[in-house]
Amino acid sequence: MDLESFRRWSHHAADWSADYLTHVGEAPVRAPVEPGSIYRQIPGAPPDAGEAMEAIFADLDRIVMPGITHWQHPRFFAYFPANASPPSIVAEQVTAAIAAQCMLWQTSPAATELETRMMEWLRAMIGLPETFAGVIQDSASGATLAALLTARERATGMKANADGLAGGPVLRVYSSAQVHSSVDKAVRIAGFGDRNLVRIPTGGPLHGMDVAALSRAIEADLAAGLKPAAIVAALGGTSIGACDDIAAVAALAKRHGIFLHVDAAWAGSAMICPEFRHLMAGAEEADSFVFNPHKWLFTNFDCSAHFIRDPKALTDTLGIRPPFLRTLGQEGFVDYNEWSVPLGRRFRALKLWFVIRSYGVETLRDMVRAHVAWAVELADRIAAEPGFEIVTAPVLSLFTFRFCPPGTTEEERDRLNARLVEALNADGRIYLTQTQHGGRFVIRFQVGATMTTRDDVLGALDVIREIAGRLA
Ligand SMILES: *Cc1c(COP(=O)(O)O)cnc(C)c1O
Repeated sequence: MDLESFRRWSHHAADWSADYLTHVGEAPVRAPVEPGSIYRQIPGAPPDAGEAMEAIFADLDRIVMPGITHWQHPRFFAYFPANASPPSIVAEQVTAAIAAQCMLWQTSPAATELETRMMEWLRAMIGLPETFAGVIQDSASGATLAALLTARERATGMKANADGLAGGPVLRVYSSAQVHSSVDKAVRIAGFGDRNLVRIPTGGPLHGMDVAALSRAIEADLAAGLKPAAIVAALGGTSIGACDDIAAVAALAKRHGIFLHVDAAWAGSAMICPEFRHLMAGAEEADSFVFNPHKWLFTNFDCSAHFIRDPKALTDTLGIRPPFLRTLGQEGFVDYNEWSVPLGRRFRALKLWFVIRSYGVETLRDMVRAHVAWAVELADRIAAEPGFEIVTAPVLSLFTFRFCPPGTTEEERDRLNARLVEALNADGRIYLTQTQHGGRFVIRFQVGATMTTRDDVLGALDVIREIAGRLA
């Protein structure tokens, strides 16, 4: 493709993208396809000769698009959002054209320095103090892994990297069962072992860790000669939005010198609204804090904002400086690859810069606030709807509910709600997912897509009522 054709097809892609976002709300939210049906339409061998872009775009529409689940659909209420926005998409186009590999300062000084500034902006936007330094990680999972590796090094006096874990003390990690599975995964990869992830029971309206039980678990481990290394606190757990009492957990962590990582992957974006910041009280005492602008801050995946109190501990853990990666003759810069597990890094700061400048912080706050308000309004209506109950109250914009027609047993309701989710998603007008709470099957509802309106949210009840009525 010569550059004149590139210009033409880039314009075409821009038109295609605008058309896509204009009409995405007309498509079924979840892709209505059978497993294997897309695969079978793609030739088993690559073409020997180049093909025309017209043909490639035609197949994009014919083969690929029917198999897309539309995360930017205004009635996407499943999982957590992975919202994007026009300024973010435009920045991604520019980023793709620049195609810089931003592993070192000198491999694109602007990428590094814009990243430093953007993390300062985000830090101020969510009200974290300047004692934290920030880095953009590829994912919250990557940030949590980097944090737990740092905790491991701190707990072993920086010995685990050199000597491995064998022969050292048994290291313990504490969290509730409400944290994301990325914590379980990081515990494995970092070599702690599943059995050293100690689950603390939860309680209270926000389903936070029982801090007295956490304290007892730590004391018992110390008495048994085990070494408490890290606590992972949830700020907006994935299942029902559980929030730990971070201030109380942080006090305990401080008393015992335990590394505290806060996973706010989803809820962190809402901390740009001062009225929600009570949920993060005490986070300023944590060692590490992650949230995903790529979830709920209108910024394309991938963009995880990771704040650390002692970046030197992180770079001592992850920084490896072979001769071929040295920058000669310069000082006063950071090489962000030393802050994360992968070496290669995309230029992720640019889309944040476009998003924050294009909207301005006040508009971003209003968008998040509206999502929360609409979720609360819908939860109130579902609570008032005969045959339905709210199981967990809204935490920000996430709540869970259950269809419970009179005269049915809890077991029947589990099966009925499983059928209801599947029927709703097959219908295609809205998209929801499920979780388990208190041993029961419940339906999650979250509001967070960029183009969602109040009508989309409140209208979901009409769809739910209609489909549930058919099943009952
Ligand atoms: C989504 C989510 C994660 C994982 O985020 P990735 O960026 O996809 O790794 C971790 N923790 C919580 C609470 C989440 O909601």
